[in-house]
Amino acid sequence: MSDPVTLHDIYLARQRLAGQAARTPLILSQSLSLRFEAEVYLKLETLQPSGAFKLRGALNKIASLSSEQLERGVTTASTGNHGRAVAWAAKRLGARAVICLSELVPANKVAAIEALGAEARVIGRSQDDAFVEARRLVAEEGMALIEPFDDPLIAAGQGTIGLELMEDLPSLDRAFVGLSGGGLLGGIGRAVKGVNPRATVTGVSMQRGAAMIDSLAAGRPVEVEEEASLADSLGGGIGLDNRCTFALVREVMDDHYRVSEPAIARAMLHFFEQEKMLVEGAAAVGLAAIEEHDIDIRGQKVALIVSGNGVDAETLMRARALIDYPER
Ligand SMILES: *Cc1c(COP(=O)(O)O)cnc(C)c1O
Repeated sequence: MSDPVTLHDIYLARQRLAGQAARTPLILSQSLSLRFEAEVYLKLETLQPSGAFKLRGALNKIASLSSEQLERGVTTASTGNHGRAVAWAAKRLGARAVICLSELVPANKVAAIEALGAEARVIGRSQDDAFVEARRLVAEEGMALIEPFDDPLIAAGQGTIGLELMEDLPSLDRAFVGLSGGGLLGGIGRAVKGVNPRATVTGVSMQRGAAMIDSLAAGRPVEVEEEASLADSLGGGIGLDNRCTFALVREVMDDHYRVSEPAIARAMLHFFEQEKMLVEGAAAVGLAAIEEHDIDIRGQKVALIVSGNGVDAETLMRARALIDYPER
């Protein structure tokens, strides 16, 4: 039995998020609309104060905790957008936050977490070790674990993106959504289809290590081998004991694609050069899929979820090099 996420849950999330997360703009991309003979819109989650949409889920979860729980604090183990979102949301809502990180995490990422007002606990040699520490804080100190995706409150928080989409563009034909653990796609899919069951929701993952796509094919959550990708925010498994997002994504996703590293690189460079936007690989996979798989969107109203801006100059240069020498 899995925990459902309803349209009602998403409306409740929206109320908790009001005045906390940004209601992000949906803008028409002139260059992509021209190129694909469609109306291509960009949902700019890059403009969230934490730099990615994950703030929505973290705020919804933390705002749902009791005042006693807020006092005991919240924890998670994440180096990326989720860790930043939890730190940001906890500070905003007056909760203590401990973000567990491994020794391998670079100092600038540790400093970024601390700058957001959270405690960065550096422990162990791997992400798994950091997760053990987070679980210990839950068991021994009564802190609340904030999951990155597999929690109905997290998926409902991300689903508020779908409500905003349907308000701004009720005639939306198709949304392209980056797919990793499935909180983002599951939430958006529930909201979009709750308003218009005929709208199409397309998931996009990187070529290798697409945990949700492999799990759906297997009919149950499976482990995947991780590989470095420009879309690093799409890495990681969905959890062998997945209780929410596997069933949700299976229900609301219409189709899915995998994209290669050169295709992600070209899409990132498109955002940089044509849209004048800095977006990370995971946020560019929708465009990468349309390009690489020649998806026919002519005459359609299409939304790309531009999910986060976590990219540095070095990564952008790596992407640039990959376009010149795709075999690298
Ligand atoms: C986490 C993340 C995703 C994927 O979200 P899931 O809920 O794990 O599927 C996509 N893009 C960015 C930028 C992310 O940080």
